[in-house]
Amino acid sequence: MANQSKSPAKIIVIFTALMVLIVAALIYVNQAEKNKLAEIESEKAEQFKLNPPSTEGQPTLGNVESNVTVVEFGDYKCPSCKIWEQMIFPQLKADYIDTGKINYAFINTLFHQQESVIASLAAEAVYAQDPEAYWDFHQAIYELQPDVNHDEAWVTIDAMTNLAAETVPSLDLQKFQEDMAQNAFMNNLNIDMGLVQYYEVMQTPTIMVNGTKIQEFLDYEELKGLIEAELQ
Ligand code: CA
Repeated sequence: MANQSKSPAKIIVIFTALMVLIVAALIYVNQAEKNKLAEIESEKAEQFKLNPPSTEGQPTLGNVESNVTVVEFGDYKCPSCKIWEQMIFPQLKADYIDTGKINYAFINTLFHQQESVIASLAAEAVYAQDPEAYWDFHQAIYELQPDVNHDEAWVTIDAMTNLAAETVPSLDLQKFQEDMAQNAFMNNLNIDMGLVQYYEVMQTPTIMVNGTKIQEFLDYEELKGLIEAELQ
């Protein structure tokens, strides 16, 4: 009788001990996995830092000779990119671009299918015709992006053609229309997407300072801190 009454208690103790062991093993494996991932991340960050994105052939602003380059991976269809463009970029421009302290470049990041492609092809076509006017057109595309319901189809070849004609006084409209009809600058987009892949850009906007991604694109102080560190 005594043995029979002990058995269930013993089983419970053994079962509990097993469960504790299993949970401990799971926690250990999980932590090891996390450590491994963190290690890979930091190795990658180091690799990107040693090999920052090239701005060759990209629209740039500021001082191309500067040893501090800030690159934006952006998408005209992305609402956060509009927020960056209108809320953070003007501060960056006033503090570091207009003062000639940094080199700034924009890389097309095509995360919204066909509309991202059309807007980016239009921007590349304007850049090819008039690199100075590019930035006015770039800004105008973001102004055209609806503040609400940005998912609606607002990027069309017609909309981009009208916008380019309005925004870029030097525009050769016929050439622009031919370029759009022939997807003339698709190779530029392929180069841009090659950079997106290499630097493992997962979201837009992604801002990189000399190959280091900032954590929070709305945090101007973080961006400023990285730039100041690199300027020294
Ligand atoms: Ca480009």
